[in-house]
Order: sequence, then structure tokens, then C-alpha cells
Amino acid sequence: MTGNDDLFARAQAVIPGGVDSPVRAYGSVGGTPRFIASASGPYITDVEGREYVDLVASWGPALVGHAHPVVVDAVIEAARRGLSFGAPTRGETELAEEIRRRVPAVQKLRLVSTGTEATMTAIRLARGATGRDLLVKFAGHYHGHSDGLLAQAGSGLATLALPGSAGVPAAIAAQTLVIGYNDRAAVEAVFAAHPGRIAAIITEAAGANMGVVPPHPGFTAFLAEIAHREGALLISDEVLTGFRASASGYAGVLSAAGEDVTPDLVTFGKVIGGGLPVAAVGGRADIMDLLAPIGPVYQAGTLSGNPVAVAAGLATLRLADADVYRRIDAAAHVVADATSAALAEAGVPHVLQWAGTLFSVFFGDAVAAGVPDYATAVTQDAAAYGRFFHAMLDAGVSLPPSSFEAWFLTAAHDEAALARIVEALPRAARAAAAS
Ligand code: PMP
Repeated sequence: MTGNDDLFARAQAVIPGGVDSPVRAYGSVGGTPRFIASASGPYITDVEGREYVDLVASWGPALVGHAHPVVVDAVIEAARRGLSFGAPTRGETELAEEIRRRVPAVQKLRLVSTGTEATMTAIRLARGATGRDLLVKFAGHYHGHSDGLLAQAGSGLATLALPGSAGVPAAIAAQTLVIGYNDRAAVEAVFAAHPGRIAAIITEAAGANMGVVPPHPGFTAFLAEIAHREGALLISDEVLTGFRASASGYAGVLSAAGEDVTPDLVTFGKVIGGGLPVAAVGGRADIMDLLAPIGPVYQAGTLSGNPVAVAAGLATLRLADADVYRRIDAAAHVVADATSAALAEAGVPHVLQWAGTLFSVFFGDAVAAGVPDYATAVTQDAAAYGRFFHAMLDAGVSLPPSSFEAWFLTAAHDEAALARIVEALPRAARAAAAS
């Protein structure tokens, strides 16, 4: 069996839903997910040989394009030296230094393998540091799939319209207080209701798992201020935005806007592994030093800091100079402008929202005035997006198969790739308009 439909049927017989991560299943847009055979630069090719311009970029990591030769060579060289040692390597220190160089809030850093582990560890550290249990998170923010973080978590849960996950003990869910994003009064109220009991606020540096929903000006600084006033910590989750929204993540975007915020802990993933599994938690040295083996907060990983994965991440970050971010930003604006123009021409109400070089498009009258939070994000016209998505796919452009995700450009999206996207847009916009 080699055809796409055959492969999906075969996968479904052995893998739940046929996928190893839910959003890949095209649940909200319908149809059969494409099985990918290879990817290069801005393109991916499915098992039937169809090539698409890719706007998923492996959900973020492929910052410099797929299979960049410098990254692939670094991976091959590292693999030749051995796949994993379970012992420290020079590359781990170099990657930690590179991240610290770019993000002032990071004094020390530990590498893990997934964003889920990074946020899980950050929360354990916050609880260990403060001696408190409660965690504040924002509706629509996704921080991975650990028990305490799946309440109103955006991303795949939003795509599947799930409020949370089965299998999470009520006692654990009760430790997470979920409030609306960009809502200062809700933040004040949650601290007032639980005095001395909140360990941390965790926030996506900019919301990007309910579509792109940036913090209102001053909101992140306000979070740091109130957390610190109340003896709690601020955890900024830059797993998605890190080294993508800008060279120094969304912190860099805020800083450029004159809003300097120093979170106590920051989590990273995606780009820092360049397509292989690397993530990290970093921040204040005094808090990071609470980690074992020198502190009482335990965390570990057989493959943490894996040398091949670290080589991919280091090579990616070393390529990611100012020019890379300029190219990604320019490409994102070409796509965003053309999308907006095509939708306007077809009479489709929509709004574009940005977080640095990241953007997404919300469809529908209900959201056209802007999306500040999850309660608004869920009112978007997901069916219109589904029609748009499939028309683009038919024309050889692979968008995220969910209206709750950012569109990811890479530094490899050159004029030819962008032209293909722009050409596909008018018909897709008309498909979105035709209900
Ligand atoms: N935090 C954020 C902001 C994310 O976007 C993601 C993944 N999309 C995660 C955490 C979890 O990362 P992972 O999928 O590597 O566990």
C-alpha cells in the first residue's frame, strides 16, 4: 500500500486516529491528512509525489527551511560521533550559551526533549521555589499535555472543541486557575481570591495556540508586576515564539516596543531543536539552581540534551542571523497582505493578528473587530477556514489544518514559493465565501 488513503487506513488500524499528534488528523478541516515523504526548503512532498508550499514548518522548528544543508550536515556529523551518550557534551553548553546570549532573562538553562517537559519542569520549579501549589493559566494558551495544563488549552483541544482532557485527576485540575487572556481585572481577582497560594502565572509569551493573539501593550509587564507583588513567579512560555517571533523571541518584540519584562522562568522548544527534539527551561540562576543534582526539585531525561538533536538546534540558531528574521518577516507580510486582499475581494470578513513575524487569520463577522482572548477566538468561522484550507491544499499550498494555529514562514520561502501561494489565494478566498 503506497497511496495516501491506503496509508491512512493502515495507520488508523494501528495508531489511534492514524496520527501521533491530534491536530495532524485534519479533524476540523475534514479530509485525509497528507502523508509526507520528504521536505526541502519551503516545500513538502507527499507520498503520492505532490509538492506543496509549506506554511506549517513542522509547527515552527523549520525556521531556516526544511532540511537546510548546513543543519543536515551538522546532524550527520554528530550522528557519526555517536547517537547518544547519557553523559554531558560540549554542544549542550554551547546551545545553552547561545540561548542565554539572546534572551536576557535566561541566566541558567536546562535542556529537555519536549516543550511539555519544559513547562512541566518550570511549574515544578515555581512550586519548589515558592512553596505554593496553585497555578494561573490563560484560556486558549497551550503549554503541552501535562495533567495540570490541559484546561481550556487551545491548540488541538480547541480544534477538537474539547474543554480539557479525560484522565486528569480532579485534584490536579483544581490546582490550575484558568482566566481570560488580556484581562487585567481577572488577574487581580484571581490573586485576591487566593492570597498567598499562587506559585506562578504561566503565559504564552504571545498567544499562538488559539490563532495568534498577542498580549495587549503593557499586559505582560503587568503580569510580572502583580506576580512579584504577590510573591509568585512569572513563567513565559516561548516554546512557539522563541527565536521565531524575533531573534530573541517575543521578549525581543516587547523590548523593541519599550516593554522590558523579565520573567522568572522561560520555556523554549521547536526552533532550538531545528526539527529534532530539544526544548529547555531557563531563567533566574537562583531558581534554576533548585534543580537536582544541586537542589531539591527533581527532573531528568535519558535523552535530554541528545547530541544529534543539539547539533540540529545549534546549527539552526547559528544560521538564524538578522537577515533570516528580515526574510521571514518580509515573506510573512507578502502572504498576509495577499491573503487579506483576496479575502476582502471575495467579501470574506476576517482579521489578521501578529506577534512579531508570526501571524494568523481569523475568519468571520464575529471576530473581524479583533481577537483579544479565547472566548472570542472560538467564535471564528471554522467552516469557512476549512473550505479555504482545502482550496489552498488543492492548489499546492499546505496551511495548518486548523484555524487555531499560526501560519509559519521560513527563511527559505523565496519569490517562487511566495508566488505560488499568492496565485492560489483568490480561488481559495472564493471557496471560503461560498457557504
Ligand atoms: N508550549 C507552547 C507555547 C507550545 O506551542 C507547545 C507546542 N505547540 C508546547 C508548549 C508543547 O511543546 P511539545 O509539543 O514539544 O511538547
